[in-house]
Amino acid sequence: MQKILNYINGKLVEPISKNYFDNFDPSTGLAYSHCPDSDERDIELAVNAAENAFESWSTLQPEKRSRIMLRIAELMEKNLDKLALAESIDQGKPEWLAKNGEIPRAISNIHFFATAIEHFASEAHPMGDHAINYTVRTPIGTVGCISPWNLPLYLFTWKIAPALAAGNCVVAKPSEITPMTAFLFSEICMEAGLPKGVLNIVHGLGPKVGSAITIHQHIKAISFTGGTKTGAEIAKVAAPMFKKLSLELGGKNANIIFADCDFDKMITETVRSSFLNQGEICLCGSRIFVERSIYEKFKTAFIEKVKQQIVGDPLDAKTKIGAIVSKPHFDKILSYIELAKQEGGAILCGGEMTKPAGRCENGWFIEPTVIEGLSYDCRTNQEEIFGPVVTITPFDNEEEVLNYANSTQYGLASILWTENLTRAHRVANKIKSGIVWINCWLLRDLRTPFGGMKQSGVGREGGWEALRFFTEQKNVCVKL
Ligand code: NDP
Repeated sequence: MQKILNYINGKLVEPISKNYFDNFDPSTGLAYSHCPDSDERDIELAVNAAENAFESWSTLQPEKRSRIMLRIAELMEKNLDKLALAESIDQGKPEWLAKNGEIPRAISNIHFFATAIEHFASEAHPMGDHAINYTVRTPIGTVGCISPWNLPLYLFTWKIAPALAAGNCVVAKPSEITPMTAFLFSEICMEAGLPKGVLNIVHGLGPKVGSAITIHQHIKAISFTGGTKTGAEIAKVAAPMFKKLSLELGGKNANIIFADCDFDKMITETVRSSFLNQGEICLCGSRIFVERSIYEKFKTAFIEKVKQQIVGDPLDAKTKIGAIVSKPHFDKILSYIELAKQEGGAILCGGEMTKPAGRCENGWFIEPTVIEGLSYDCRTNQEEIFGPVVTITPFDNEEEVLNYANSTQYGLASILWTENLTRAHRVANKIKSGIVWINCWLLRDLRTPFGGMKQSGVGREGGWEALRFFTEQKNVCVKL
């Protein structure tokens, strides 16, 4: 079985403990590689390597940093098929999705920040002929990046690209559940000539490796994407140490459908926003609210389309919904379907695990599930399930649906479907979420601020926001 290795000080190395745990292919339920079970000693090595590399990396001209990063992006492009296949096997997502969506986006992340840094400027504030202020933005030092399993390479690069471009050195931890593409990425960084110690990737368990990053004195900023509970644990440790923190956390997003929407377009996109990547995207619209006058029409058309979604082998081009990432997550999703039934929900389609014939018969697959008849404030409608499960609920007016939409502890994203421009802006204005999509979903411009309100996070990623997060600002005031 293939052994994944840590990437520390420019080399692929074993964990100090020499211990490994199994890494599973969720489509077969079988272990297929070994992941390092690293600990605080490996983090110590990684931090030392990063500290040693900082002086030369942070003082390198931005265009030189940019050139190395562009070389990384080029090599990723060259290895697109290999990365996509690896992501599909490791995570369970359809290979076509990794190839057309996730890996190209990971390449864009590197490319975007490699070029952005060449345009990153700071401000001057003249005080008439009296004095002038100018702002200097300098890299922070060694920073920590911790990412989740749902979009492994995409979210990993979304963090490390701005950190590296801004001149920081990075100690990064991908999810222990999906370590493979980060490992392949470390090989690409070596081939691209990234100087040793600039990026260090340490694999292992969150409570061991993640918490060793969080608590390390010399790691001055943490960029974390993952669950709200883990985010709170990280904040508890990092806040008293006065570390900079960017937290991208969970969501329970509303998809609000008004009767005047473009119905066909809305149905097609709503299937996508409900079930893409098995519903394991923090931006999926898992609570669907439909204006009562079109509720029955919606229900019929939606269910018909959902039933056509093929659940099966992620390597088969016809598959729309692949495997659930891990056995514990599979069990968690099924337990929420049981909870929905106990809370009085009616399962309109799906609701069960399924076993595709052949190679994948022991994999972790769940049918796309649509539930109705639940109150907006029950647990099923308030807690993040993060799987192929959505609820549908009718509403009568704007005020009522805004109350439903804003009722959760989360505030990451929302989706609105209406052809009424005034209403679209009015509702968008009143929704408490960091992102609002009107008549579309997952349309992303990497320059825009990305992140959530309430318990969906603190801070924003993307564009200048990310480069500002990964730099310290200093104001210099000169008396003229
Ligand atoms: P987790 O919070 O379980 O894990 C995220 C990362 O943190 C993993 O690398 C994990 O390691 C690590 N970790 C776990 N415990 C600790 C700890 N005590 N200290 C430091 N690091 C730790 O999230 P999931 O991986 O389960 O991801 C799913 C969650 O991510 C969902 O809630 C989803 O909404 C959210 N998410 C948010 C996004 C956003 O942009 N807002 C985007 C994508 C996902 P390990 O895997 O070893 O446990």
